[in-house]
Amino acid sequence: MAIQLFTPTFQVEECLQEIRECLEKGWTGLGFKTVEFENKWKEYTGLPNAHFLNSATVGLSLALKILKMENNWNDNDEVITTPLTFISTNHAIVYENLTPVFADVDEYLCLDPIDVEKKITPKTKAIMFVGLGGNTGKYKEIVELCKKYNLKLVLDAAHMAGTRVNGEIPGKEADVVVYSFQAVKNLPTADSGMICFQSSELDELCRKLTWLGINKDTYARANDKGAYKWKYDVEYVGYKYHGNSIMAAIGLVQLKYLDRDNSYRRQLAEWYDQNFKGFSSKIKPVPVAIDCESSRHLYVIAVDNRDELLLALNESGIYPGVHYRDNTEYSMYKHAYGTCPNSHKLSEQIISLPMHLQLTKQDVDFICETVIKYT
Ligand SMILES: *Cc1c(COP(=O)(O)O)cnc(C)c1O
Repeated sequence: MAIQLFTPTFQVEECLQEIRECLEKGWTGLGFKTVEFENKWKEYTGLPNAHFLNSATVGLSLALKILKMENNWNDNDEVITTPLTFISTNHAIVYENLTPVFADVDEYLCLDPIDVEKKITPKTKAIMFVGLGGNTGKYKEIVELCKKYNLKLVLDAAHMAGTRVNGEIPGKEADVVVYSFQAVKNLPTADSGMICFQSSELDELCRKLTWLGINKDTYARANDKGAYKWKYDVEYVGYKYHGNSIMAAIGLVQLKYLDRDNSYRRQLAEWYDQNFKGFSSKIKPVPVAIDCESSRHLYVIAVDNRDELLLALNESGIYPGVHYRDNTEYSMYKHAYGTCPNSHKLSEQIISLPMHLQLTKQDVDFICETVIKYT
């Protein structure tokens, strides 16, 4: 049997039960389960606000749009970001007519605060930090830089559902945190995300912008009394970015199992670590920051013969991935090519080994034997 990189696991019967409730109630859209999921997410994370979206990509875009609107940033103002990320992170900056300025990554594959500081200019307005694979890297130092230079902080927490630092969910220091509940993330739905603003005013503005700029949602109106249920104002040219109750229904179930699932992911990572212990000269697992209890969305190793190893693993029925190709190699961002040498080098060495709940210890042992044999 082939071993895939990601095979999501759903609590099928429980999900169907939650979805059934939506269908029977006749409420599959915005409101109902979306409200319940937002409340549960706030409770789980301890973040003050949470708004359910149809993806994290739109969340990152909205995060920057709203910060730009509210702080009177200009077009072409700069956001410092990482080249080792899913392309959503960097497209989000461009969507808002801001300029992504790439800073290099460190041994954690996260933004390196030393290089970030070098890339701050008078036009820098924000830093976009990606907790790659659930790792927090040097997030704390990035928070300090934001304070020192008065920059906004956006946390792309797409991989970080359930990550803790010293027992707490990180993000309270950021202006806005964006999670992904896309099909293969740690809390899989099909497609959805959550945006968590520090400020309640910005959360309120965000809620209007995710529903076309309308100032009162249908669910709120359905629960209104009196003859003015139908009446609302439109204050902005908003978007259709909010999430729906079917996705939230799945999310509510998956959230119950998130900590249990992540602890199994950490177990898998430990098995990988143990197996690779004697081979550190040629197989280098990417370390997790010392105080970080990672969600372990990814288990990444760096090797010198990455492309060969990928082919050899494929021939043995193992299908790993690469997270990520240095974004400055893409045509869209090639103007920045060469600005982040460590990212460039690592992006040619890294492999993400299979990481999901259906893997057994035997699977991990087999993957490791095969990796060791071909490096
Ligand atoms: C998956 C991912 C996103 C986008 O999430 P969607 O919910 O698919 O839009 C953004 N950033 C990173 C780092 C991701 O891995």
